[in-house]
Amino acid sequence: MTLAAYACDPAQSRGRRFFEAAAPTRSEFQRDRDRIIHSTAFRRLVYKTQVFLNHEGDLFRTRLTHSLEVAQLGRSIGRSLQLDEDLIEAIALAHDLGHTPFGHAGQDVLDECMKAHGGFEHNLQSLRVVDRLEQRYPSFDGLNLCFETREGILKHCARRNALILDAAEPGGVAARFLNGTQPGLEAQLCNLADEVAYNAHDIDDGVRSGLLAMEQLEAVPLVRQYLGEALAEYPGLGGKRLLAETIRRMLSAQVYDIINASRAALQAAAPADVAAVRSQAPLLRFSPEMRAASSELKRFLFANLYRHPQVHGTRQRAEEVLRDLFELYAGDASLLPEEYAAAEYLPRACADYIAGMTDRFALKEHQRLTGKQLF
Ligand code: MG
Repeated sequence: MTLAAYACDPAQSRGRRFFEAAAPTRSEFQRDRDRIIHSTAFRRLVYKTQVFLNHEGDLFRTRLTHSLEVAQLGRSIGRSLQLDEDLIEAIALAHDLGHTPFGHAGQDVLDECMKAHGGFEHNLQSLRVVDRLEQRYPSFDGLNLCFETREGILKHCARRNALILDAAEPGGVAARFLNGTQPGLEAQLCNLADEVAYNAHDIDDGVRSGLLAMEQLEAVPLVRQYLGEALAEYPGLGGKRLLAETIRRMLSAQVYDIINASRAALQAAAPADVAAVRSQAPLLRFSPEMRAASSELKRFLFANLYRHPQVHGTRQRAEEVLRDLFELYAGDASLLPEEYAAAEYLPRACADYIAGMTDRFALKEHQRLTGKQLF
């Protein structure tokens, strides 16, 4: 498989923060992917959730299965566009490593607890996990990943945080948030694949959990179209096969849309190399029609699933768990494991420790320390 000129070539990587000799058989991006798979934070993704809580059932996506789906979608699009699949896989598998327990609820409450201490943001935390928090090597903290993998992991960054990161690593992974440039195409792709993946699986989990009804989904043009096509070809199809067939068609349409729209954009812009990719507007994209359709689906899920009263009820209890934990640890460092208690700045150590927890560990720890059983 030859890489396109505009792809990130592992032999031309901007390198690692600490020098390491090349591996005999693996490319630099393969090594990154392998390091991520062997990390502690990656293993914990299996007990972390985005919308549903881990104990609510075995039917729903976890952050681990979500990350695998992002990698699958990313790789199948990336192969068509001759991008580096190992880099895509590395970014996709690492993109959610910084997520707190209890999904969106956890991120918001930790950010609130950290308000006076620089805040908490999961993209920054994902980078912090691979740069600092993983402790697996004798001579450096973190996984010492390549620049291209790290820039893909840091997919959003507020200007305030970018200034702090850029002071520590001038011209590094945060520079693009200050100078308005783009990351490599593999990183741009993972961003889109993430959106395609969660839109599809949240519909699936939403319907199978009973929180969303098929009839409700018919109001969303993208779903209506592929539901209609599935029924036209298989009249009388219903239940889980209809749901799966609708989502399968929707996913295929989005994958081909991204391939076609991006290929056209790449042909028109003809970037000679990655440097040319970085200085242009994003070239990895949906068609304008699919962009609008995907955004509408996102809005639907926000209003009807993420804000569903039943999701909201568990959300409040999840927030209470993390708020209590933060207060307890911040008030008494001796409750923390030694390596966190010894940190220079206690609030950040509390956030790092809590963010690294799985849903079930957070619940267990909360019950142990407060005697309360919220779930
Ligand atoms: Mg994600």
